[in-house]
Amino acid sequence: MSDTIYSTICPGCNFGCGLYIRENRALDVDFRKSSPANAGKLCRFGMSLPRFYKPIKSMVDGKETSIEDAAKEAAKRISAGKGSTAFLSFGNTTCEELLALRKASESYLCTGVNFEGLPKDTYQTLSVGIPYSEIENAKHIVLFIDPYEQYPLIVRRLISAKNKGAKITAVWWKDLALATENIRPEDVSKLQFTKDSLIIADFHPFSDVEQVKSVLSLAKNAGAKVTFLKPFANSTGAYIMSKDAKQKSLAQLVDDINKGTIKTLFCLESNPLELIPSEALGKLTNLIVQTGQAPDTKANIVIAHEPLYKKKGTLINNEGRAQALGGAGTNGLDALGIVAGTKFDFNSLHESVKKALGVAAIDEFTIPKYERPAYGAIQAAPKQPEAKTALVSVFNPFMWSNLSDDNDFVELSLNTVRALKLLKGGMLMIKSNGSAIEKRFKVAPVPDNVLLSCRKFGIEKGTITPVEISR
Ligand code: SF4
Repeated sequence: MSDTIYSTICPGCNFGCGLYIRENRALDVDFRKSSPANAGKLCRFGMSLPRFYKPIKSMVDGKETSIEDAAKEAAKRISAGKGSTAFLSFGNTTCEELLALRKASESYLCTGVNFEGLPKDTYQTLSVGIPYSEIENAKHIVLFIDPYEQYPLIVRRLISAKNKGAKITAVWWKDLALATENIRPEDVSKLQFTKDSLIIADFHPFSDVEQVKSVLSLAKNAGAKVTFLKPFANSTGAYIMSKDAKQKSLAQLVDDINKGTIKTLFCLESNPLELIPSEALGKLTNLIVQTGQAPDTKANIVIAHEPLYKKKGTLINNEGRAQALGGAGTNGLDALGIVAGTKFDFNSLHESVKKALGVAAIDEFTIPKYERPAYGAIQAAPKQPEAKTALVSVFNPFMWSNLSDDNDFVELSLNTVRALKLLKGGMLMIKSNGSAIEKRFKVAPVPDNVLLSCRKFGIEKGTITPVEISR
């Protein structure tokens, strides 16, 4: 059997790293040196893609079926509960499919982030970031992320900037080795921003709206550049393609499921278990998941389309760079057509994508021109953790994809280890919301009231969870 090689984009985050997937009996990853976002380099998640792409079958109520029959049954159930279905996708698929989803979505579309809580004139700044090459030429970079953990391929750009003389300030819970200055989030008001500063933050469904507004406001007041990185491949495409659609936030969606006004949830390439509390999911009459790799949740209907690397279509990364996938598959699009009661034509959706971007062709080496309208003054009131001890979740590609990694521990300060008399190689007891878990720990340069974790333990309440700790 000969190999089939696909030129594709890593689905681990919205950095847009290009790579090859070689398919024979198993999958292999090959480097694509010509890729403008990453020049062939991949992080641990990119190298783990053969583990990420788990095979999947279409199912209706636990019985295996064809993709067409699963999509037909989904259409039947959506139509039976007219007006009580929500459609959710945070990206992870092509712009063409996202346009089709928007058309299918009646009036309830959720691309996940809380745009309702943010001023409308900041939308474009949040949706599309700046070219990575501008990071390399910045004089002062202020990080509101942990680049090593969350968006690893940006580290090369930061090191290049530093080698050219850039000062790097990390506003983070842990001292970062590449930073020339490390300050804690609660001390950000002491920091001097200027028009030469470039702020790098991130934006995702669990982002604290006040924190996002605060970052936007710091940039505005100083005339600094700001760029928001995003955790889902093609998040930028999801925002651009649904720019004019009325959207609901994830919080609103959870509320509506709990109230019973939403009874059916259709998720396109977005894992509901990662995003929605399981108590809320349990209240749904129908959970319909359309995806290219095995979901880790029990859905009433699974519509199994091709994995991302086999698809035909367009992804847009953090920079706004549009990239064509090298596959030929459109069975995801065809299934969305059955769900919507229409037939979607790839070519006409592709024309709409190009029109939205103002380009004649998708060329990964030329970033389309985006308008970046100025936004008005913003009032923000970011909260700092008040709890004696807080568990801070550092969302990274493994965490978002629920893919196991070797990081099943928390990081805590040496002072905390001494105060609790923790033993080397021993365990730390963490209590929250009536649950108690035991975890391995590692000493790190973090504040004494913070535990950092790159893994979900099932006791979290958003990004910052008040906890009690003991030996
Ligand atoms: S940085 Fe993001 S896109 Fe690049 S290889 Fe890692 S997970 Fe994939």
